[in-house]
Amino acid sequence: MSGSSKANRKFKYRRNKLVEKLRSKGIHDESVLSAINKIPRHLFVDTALENRAYEDSALPIGKGQTISQPYTVAAQTELLNVKQGEKVLEIGTGSGYQAAILCEMRADVYTIERHKELYHNAREILQYLGYRLRFKLGDGTLGWSAYAPYDCIVVTAGAPVVPDELIKQLKLMGRLVVPVGDHEKQKMIRITRISEDAYEEEHFNNFKFVPLIGKKGWEEGRSTDT
Ligand code: SAH
Repeated sequence: MSGSSKANRKFKYRRNKLVEKLRSKGIHDESVLSAINKIPRHLFVDTALENRAYEDSALPIGKGQTISQPYTVAAQTELLNVKQGEKVLEIGTGSGYQAAILCEMRADVYTIERHKELYHNAREILQYLGYRLRFKLGDGTLGWSAYAPYDCIVVTAGAPVVPDELIKQLKLMGRLVVPVGDHEKQKMIRITRISEDAYEEEHFNNFKFVPLIGKKGWEEGRSTDT
């Protein structure tokens, strides 16, 4: 057997274990679990970290940023309630892993990243894996009005407040999932647009994200934003 197929078997085995772990932590959406079971997370991190890719932890991806913890990705995706064909906007492409999960769930994916290097790396890996989605380099706190409105918007960085531009870009019954808080911890919030100008707001557990930097986020220039 070739070295690489042996490695692939090892990663497949670890992915299975990770899915079981997420299940035991309360993730039950089978479409989310099946996407996690398929996507080679080790390709979204530096080769020096690939042996840790199936631990349930966040890992550095450069520029002071991280690929989110698998549990966090699963929990956010579950809260979005994504259905096949729905239009989903992600703020904070990072490694591209969350975007891959959404593509695997057959969503129509739009993703924005503010760091040029991460934007290019994510494009490369997602194209290599054959996913089709739209990428933008820029400030995601303003959303992406050219393709609005969206069925789902997911913010994968911690915001000081719910960015109001994002709320405006939701379809009727559209869902925005965003972690809101200070630099230490953020509460996961889901906002559902229930009519033209009425929204329902639900609060969930605390998480810890890298900061959302931009016009409707934190100011640039803290030590975490190198
Ligand atoms: N979804 C990513 C998580 C990456 S961490 C993944 O699966 O790997 C969050 C990312 O949000 C970082 O890459 C950071 O650079 C980016 N980010 C922070 N503020 C942003 C903004 N205003 N617009 C776009 N991206 C932003």
